[in-house]
Amino acid sequence: MTQVITSIQEWQAIRQKITTTKNIGFVPTLGNLHIGHQSLLEKSKQQNEITVLSIYVNRTQFNDPKDFNDYPRTFASDIELAKNIGIDFIIMPEDCALYPDDYCYHVNEMDFSRFLEGPYRPGHFSGVLTIVLKLFQIVKPTRTYLGEKDYQQLELIRGMVKAFFLDVEIVACPTIREADNLPYSSRNSRLSSSERNQASKFPAIFFQKKSCEEITNELLNAGFIVDYIQDYQHRRYGAVKIGAVRLIDNYARI
Ligand code: AMP
Repeated sequence: MTQVITSIQEWQAIRQKITTTKNIGFVPTLGNLHIGHQSLLEKSKQQNEITVLSIYVNRTQFNDPKDFNDYPRTFASDIELAKNIGIDFIIMPEDCALYPDDYCYHVNEMDFSRFLEGPYRPGHFSGVLTIVLKLFQIVKPTRTYLGEKDYQQLELIRGMVKAFFLDVEIVACPTIREADNLPYSSRNSRLSSSERNQASKFPAIFFQKKSCEEITNELLNAGFIVDYIQDYQHRRYGAVKIGAVRLIDNYARI
């Protein structure tokens, strides 16, 4: 049976009683769950005795307050999805409970976080790393499941685990895509139907075997605002905007 927990203290009491022989898989999310999140949860279910899902819309990783306010909060359907998969625990902490420091302590990465998404989302990765560290300390998972869709985030969390000797194994999960190859994302639901049609052109252009410059020009001609198309360590990364909606993607280049 799925247990929904809103109190950190209540979870900590449960966590203390879980024997060390049981593996705990952890999937941190902002909620508004879709098939991409579901794939992470299912993998965790396969590989661990216990799976913990966190749903928390973390204010500090939104550089734009409007984006934070507009972020879809669909807790009832999220809980339903998790129950259907048979997730053991859903942790939904209250806002202030995760920040007893009143937002004074931050994890800052000084290198990779400054590239790609970094300049477009000031403070974003610091917000992500800080909340993920807090959640790791609370959940104390054996493994955590993260999507390759947010590859820069995945790499930065990997780096934090190494830097701070955190005792958690990171399991990278492949990007789950819609029929037209657009990655599933909570942001896709904010696209109007004509914008959604246009969004199809993003993967169609992005995955071509052409230079970053050629891809950028084709995206611009197709009506996108292009934040970047960039190669970094054998991987191609891209971020575009359609109106107010920002789409990101990446793939390994062999
Ligand atoms: P979010 O709720 O957007 O913070 O995402 C929570 C986790 O789900 C992150 O590790 C994401 O990388 C992962 N995720 C989101 N969308 C997808 C997708 N389409 N395929 C695979 N993983 C995803």
